[in-house]
Amino acid sequence: MQNFQSIKYSLLCARQCLFITLLASTAAAQTKYDLLLQGGHVVDAKNNVSAVRDVAVKDGKIAAVAEHIDPGTALKTVSVKDLYVSPGLIDIHVHAYASTGERGSYAGDNSVWPDDFTFRTGVTTVADAGSSGYKNFEDFKEHIIDRSKTRVLAFINIVGAGMSGPKYEDNLQDMEPGPAADMAKKYPKVIVGIKTAHYSGPEWTPVENAVKAGTAANIPVMVDFGANRPERPIDVLLTQKMRPGDIYTHCYSGLRNELTASGKVNGGMVAGRQRGVIFDVGHGGGSFAWRVAGPMIQQGFLPDSISSDLHFGSMNAGMKDMLNLMGKFMALGASADDVIRWSTWNPAREIHHEELGNLSVGSPADIAVLSLETGNFGFTDMYGARMNSKHRFECQMTVHDGKIVYDLNGMSRPDWKSLPTNYTAIGDRRWDGLNPSHAPSEH
Ligand SMILES: [Zn+2]
Repeated sequence: MQNFQSIKYSLLCARQCLFITLLASTAAAQTKYDLLLQGGHVVDAKNNVSAVRDVAVKDGKIAAVAEHIDPGTALKTVSVKDLYVSPGLIDIHVHAYASTGERGSYAGDNSVWPDDFTFRTGVTTVADAGSSGYKNFEDFKEHIIDRSKTRVLAFINIVGAGMSGPKYEDNLQDMEPGPAADMAKKYPKVIVGIKTAHYSGPEWTPVENAVKAGTAANIPVMVDFGANRPERPIDVLLTQKMRPGDIYTHCYSGLRNELTASGKVNGGMVAGRQRGVIFDVGHGGGSFAWRVAGPMIQQGFLPDSISSDLHFGSMNAGMKDMLNLMGKFMALGASADDVIRWSTWNPAREIHHEELGNLSVGSPADIAVLSLETGNFGFTDMYGARMNSKHRFECQMTVHDGKIVYDLNGMSRPDWKSLPTNYTAIGDRRWDGLNPSHAPSEH
């Protein structure tokens, strides 16, 4: 039986607990959101938004998008007035298998480390385009995918050994659809497609086996059509071999008759598009020429997605980064809304990751804050020819999984003169992904 003393104690405790609960709920009301980006021009193709909006983030997800969100409800508010607010950019053609030590190989030294190149250009998701195959995908996953802050997905090569050079990539014996499909099914969240690339022979085997693997795993195939061979013309590829939803990358290279000698878009490209084949840029070191892209765009053959084909050879040459490519297509007449759609929602759909590339409430809070600079700029192609333009995108801030991971001008940061003389760590781990003392131990 409870004595009077303990009842009194219980009451006291209940009152204190109520008080604490009230305090906590008041604090919660004040900080309904972790981060608020205020007054930017939101471009969200999925939701048909291209307008000034506030965007609020909570627990790594988009929590609200509205004309006005009370800054009093957010732990951290950043004004992004006069800037574009885009879903984090998605680059579906990169080479990021840099860890093997293989010389002269895309499954090695020709690749780059994703985190070194992504956030500073507004990119939050990349898909490696076939640097690894089913034999080395798990090594790629262990050494790169699982250790990167960037969301790294992958097309696995139909070649079991991946992109280890012509000796491997021309080996028809190592293009088995069964094991490739099995590996894709083992990692359905990470493996988004099958890649075929660089094949120099006359056979259709690489494409056919990639399609068999893609069909078995219910994922798209990305085709780099390799050498231009009369035995396998591009119109047959696009109208008979590829399925709707498969992706033709390097679409403005001109190396496989994408543009005919008479300067017209190849009829096979148009017919392929009509039956649902996807056309992707895949700029790289040797797959974008003004003399090809210019006439094709002028004739109305626009890309479905912009991708970089990022690797050691393209990043300092004409390609540079996703923002540079977006600037190139604006130089060819596309709007800011077009190039953002081609770099966010379209690629998300192409790789069947529709939770990405948009700012719907509940989607991962991956956001790129971009400035559209005006001045005298130049963009170069694979041959080193320049096109002048008045506009260029620059990445001002990148948010990944709800945390600021790049901030070019420190606009989320206080002026150091406003801080105590002995200031150290600034920020809060709920929105700050930059301060080393706030970094999660693993990701
Ligand atoms: Zn590539």
